[in-house]
Amino acid sequence: MTKLLAALFAPLLLAPPPSDEVDAGFEPALETVTDADVRTHVDLLTSDVYAGRDTPQPGMVKACEYVAEQFSRYGLVPVGPDDSFLVTYALNVRDVAPSTTFVLAGAQGDVLATLREEFVPAKESPSGAAEGDVVFCGYGIEERKYRWNSFKRVDVRGKIVVVLAREPRADDDNARFFDGLEATDASSLAEKVKKAAELGAVGVVVCPATAEESEVWMNAQLPILAGRGGGRRGRGGSSELALPTVVVTLDLAEKILGRSPTELRDRIDGRRKPDSFEVDARVRLDVVVTEESRPVPQVAARYPGRDQDLLGEVVVVGAHLDHVGMDDRGRVYNGADDNAGGVAGLLEVAQAFGEGKPMTRRSVVFIAFTGEERGLLGSYAWCREPPIAMSKHYGMINLDIISRGRKSAIEATPPPDKTFFDRLLSRAVKESNCRLKVGRGGKEYFQRSDQYPFHREGIPTVFFNEGKTNEDYHRPSDTADKLIEEKVAKVARLSFALAYLAANSDLEGGLR
Ligand SMILES: [Zn+2]
Repeated sequence: MTKLLAALFAPLLLAPPPSDEVDAGFEPALETVTDADVRTHVDLLTSDVYAGRDTPQPGMVKACEYVAEQFSRYGLVPVGPDDSFLVTYALNVRDVAPSTTFVLAGAQGDVLATLREEFVPAKESPSGAAEGDVVFCGYGIEERKYRWNSFKRVDVRGKIVVVLAREPRADDDNARFFDGLEATDASSLAEKVKKAAELGAVGVVVCPATAEESEVWMNAQLPILAGRGGGRRGRGGSSELALPTVVVTLDLAEKILGRSPTELRDRIDGRRKPDSFEVDARVRLDVVVTEESRPVPQVAARYPGRDQDLLGEVVVVGAHLDHVGMDDRGRVYNGADDNAGGVAGLLEVAQAFGEGKPMTRRSVVFIAFTGEERGLLGSYAWCREPPIAMSKHYGMINLDIISRGRKSAIEATPPPDKTFFDRLLSRAVKESNCRLKVGRGGKEYFQRSDQYPFHREGIPTVFFNEGKTNEDYHRPSDTADKLIEEKVAKVARLSFALAYLAANSDLEGGLR
């Protein structure tokens, strides 16, 4: 066939559109992006049962599974091995060994509790065995300011101390009692265990007061990353607890105490008085903590390109789904703006491609990174051991902190070098009809999010963000109610258009 004939027949063979116009799939794809979808994703990812999505805790793994389910629903192609949307990388993890035991010796004989289902060592518990009679010590708090002493009428020497999580009336905003909604220092688990150890106790059992608290606390203990100092934010240094310490479920707590922990808490809170007493039970626990390298998941999916020569190349759209977990005062850092909003945006872009089926020459790859908050661990791992050769990465778009601030403005932080994204951005704004003013702020954050490892590999990147951090940054107050879903949807439309244009572009990408 001559060249001329090939050119004539090309349109019949699903040829890519000329790069100066969008194809018929573009508009329907844009229409799949909705404020309501954004709200659904964000409300889910910020719910307490995800326990702040800390790498590599169960809450983070659950969030990965949610994203994988959505990718599958959109008809995208798995990037991981064995047709999985999960791509793993190795991290040093501190975890509980299977030989860890918890035995409750009560009136009915010995009951062996099931590890992870009924109990789990606290994330900073040392290894160690402990055995003793049980004494319930209320919240386990001695706080002079509020004339509170949970240990006053009991002798805990040689005993296993059972304490409630958090502090008296934790959800009451009366500032004159335990600092209202602020969690006092005395409510930290480290302080409770230290106090129990000083008084001669041999082990500590933390018992939640409700089924929901039980789920959150069970999801926010081991495993954690090894050697990172754990959840005692702002204090620095190593923070292993003073005694072997385990968290138990509400059910197991009730078996140990022979009474409902919810009722015990309500009584203490209602009377505003400590209530501590000996329990007719014995506990034997043996905590064995290990540290080892192990696979940790993140999530990736591909939308296939249709140009035989270019479909091996990829435009990446990414957002980190991990956050910083729960601290040992029971405050969950739900990370709505950072970065459930970015993940919702990523999911909306993925849905636009998967369901709108626009025609792209290159493939588009969607990645929900993990380990970001602990040092861009997931994105560095991707670049170190890429499931798709790095030389095939044409460009990368990252969404991190895109849901607050001015409703109709977003920053596209320019990387230190100029790339083709600069030339595509204004057209992406127009084609997507996103009604966003795109600024160039946020330079100081360029090295602090997942585009940076890609940039270091020579891949052109664009980083959508708010340009500055808000007052709720990395605080428990970064909550879903403050998130502007309309803004996330706009950024998602813009990101979709930009990824689409990049996937069809003739401009020089990161490959040459
Ligand atoms: Zn972030």
